[in-house]
Amino acid sequence: MTNDKQLFGTFGVRRIANDILTPEFTSMLAASYGTVFQGKIAIGGDTRTTTPMIKHAIISGLLSSGCDVIDLGILPTPAVQYAVKNYYDGGIIITASHNPPEYNGIKFVDKDGIGIKDEDEIIIEKLYFEENPKRASWEAIGNLYNNDKIIEEYIDEALERVDIKAIKSRKLKVVLDCGSGAGCYTAPYILQKLGCELITLNCQDDGFFPGRDPEPIETNLQDLIATVKQLNADIGIAHDGDADRTICIDEKGNYVLGDKTFTLVEKQMLKENKGGLIVTTVATSTAIYDIADEFNGEVIATAVGDLLVARELKEKDGLFGGEENGGLIFPDFVYGRDAALTVAKILEIIAKEKKSLSQLVDELPAYFSEKMKCECPDEKKQEVMDNIAKEVATLGYEIDTTDGVKIFKDDGWVIIRPSGTEPIFRSMSESDSQSKATELAKWGISLIEKFKS
Ligand code: MG
Repeated sequence: MTNDKQLFGTFGVRRIANDILTPEFTSMLAASYGTVFQGKIAIGGDTRTTTPMIKHAIISGLLSSGCDVIDLGILPTPAVQYAVKNYYDGGIIITASHNPPEYNGIKFVDKDGIGIKDEDEIIIEKLYFEENPKRASWEAIGNLYNNDKIIEEYIDEALERVDIKAIKSRKLKVVLDCGSGAGCYTAPYILQKLGCELITLNCQDDGFFPGRDPEPIETNLQDLIATVKQLNADIGIAHDGDADRTICIDEKGNYVLGDKTFTLVEKQMLKENKGGLIVTTVATSTAIYDIADEFNGEVIATAVGDLLVARELKEKDGLFGGEENGGLIFPDFVYGRDAALTVAKILEIIAKEKKSLSQLVDELPAYFSEKMKCECPDEKKQEVMDNIAKEVATLGYEIDTTDGVKIFKDDGWVIIRPSGTEPIFRSMSESDSQSKATELAKWGISLIEKFKS
């Protein structure tokens, strides 16, 4: 595995604030970005306590490189991407998404609002390490503007894409948990506009995340689950820290896995549009393919990463895309994971189909998955992967090497991938029973163990 980049991870830079992420660091990095992406650059961030410090350093760096800066305030990541796609030449988002409060991060997007390409990251890093970004002469230094209208426009544009009347008529009872993140600025208003009876948890902006950890995994959503059950709500909704991911709790209090939500919305999008191109990653459920077969869709699978899915959707003019973690992409709205339209779309499905969320999920193709991991030093990763590919080829299995090694067996598949950020391998599997899925994931781990020593 080649890793030429020293600063950038899978989507931007993410670190503990004021450790590496100091004003000096962020200002120089922003000036380096501004050198490559000249013009009008939008900036926005989440509710973290360190966001204002980082934001002001970024603004200075951008202005210094001659860019004009438009400050959009505190808002979800997809709202910044929406603004950039429609109005600006680039954008920077200050967020650490689902990470704990001491973290923060910087996401850089291009004029389409899509995370920037590897080659641009490498150029930006070079400018940074050589301390050689463009420094505009005093009369060419950029201007700073504010735009506080984007949130409203973003909400209205999301709602424009669903049948508001149908949703309103159902008067759905919704419990919303924004985890005190950026969703506080959009999600409650969306649900109000959709005529829902709304109960809020953690919908006050707070960068210490006092109510729950910002990662919307099941253990962190116990209050939401209990509230949905206690109040007999139709659905519970949770967002991560920067409100690009949506997790649903059904009316019985069950945590609905991200790939189920993805499949559910895929089905609706294909039905409404009488087919279309779906883009996902090689790590997503076979259910996506089953639904595509049934409803006249076509599926393309990229390597893992929401940027890659977004870029493929743009290049191939796709209809809809997503990942197994609950990040759904509606390319005619935002070229990235979007939570606002995901929520509106799921409520629309419940309203139009006149079924409960648990019924709708039960009707989807049923697969079982397993995720496991094991340690492996970075320098051994490539060798391990090569050896696994060789070994399974001699065993006669079909493989896909778009990302790691995906091995197809008669009773399911397993994908073995090295982490891009940690010295570990992941083994992820899917089959028609839980025990078979677990067996497959264990087999994946055994292959890694065999070749790493
Ligand atoms: Mg996020």
